[in-house]
Amino acid sequence: MEINYVVGALIFIIGAMIGSFLNVCIVRLPLEKSIVFPGSHCVACRTPIHWYDNIPLISWIVLGGRCRACKEKISFRYWFVELLTGIVFFLFYAHFGLTPILLPYLVMVSGFIVATFVDFEHRIIPDEVSIGGMIAGLVLSLIVPQLHATRSPFLGVGFSLLGILVGGGAIYLMGMIGDFVFKKETMGGGDVKLMAMVGAFMGWKLALLTFFLAPFFGAGFGIVEKIRTKDSTIAYGPFLIMGALTSLFWGEKIIAFFMAGGFYHS
Ligand SMILES: [Zn+2]
Repeated sequence: MEINYVVGALIFIIGAMIGSFLNVCIVRLPLEKSIVFPGSHCVACRTPIHWYDNIPLISWIVLGGRCRACKEKISFRYWFVELLTGIVFFLFYAHFGLTPILLPYLVMVSGFIVATFVDFEHRIIPDEVSIGGMIAGLVLSLIVPQLHATRSPFLGVGFSLLGILVGGGAIYLMGMIGDFVFKKETMGGGDVKLMAMVGAFMGWKLALLTFFLAPFFGAGFGIVEKIRTKDSTIAYGPFLIMGALTSLFWGEKIIAFFMAGGFYHS
């Protein structure tokens, strides 16, 4: 993949700007607040933030991480999400290039970023992200059927629907088995909807691979968390997302490897 660094830098800047908006979603969606009104304001003193104090990545540093009006600390997370979104957008461009599938994937990963931060903090995945993302995935599969390696919009939607069923269905089934075995709720509805979203964008094959990869990420983190907090319930959404991103970037290679007989033939 040839990377044009001027385009790459532009995509990074756009990413940081989108990240600024994702920050608003991360704060407001779990509180059921509008993400449009009112405009950006300090969460401590509610003073509206001027545009020149709202420049992604730069303003937070210029202000020393404090509100201009009340000098209250502004969470480092704002800056981090802007940087992360910029980097993630750049990496997607570097991997997929300026192709029709890039924009739908950027929509998807924006949802992933919001879901990750909200799930870690509140243990929920907002429906606006999961159900909204699922619908976005369906519509984008109609407009950009290349998402499912076809040129037919009709087939694009069909594969997207199949992805929703397989992705959401796999984890729903696992949750039912888990509830039966452990006699308590093991898998939240938010995870089912998130996997339906993954399937809508990525199709059934990569959604299924996501389902099988996520526990590996979850197990590593879960052991650390359990020692640290003695709490056995962990937010599973972020691990589904790590599984989804691994599937998206390397899934075809992973599937081909196992189809060829895995280690036996290599
Ligand atoms: Zn303030």
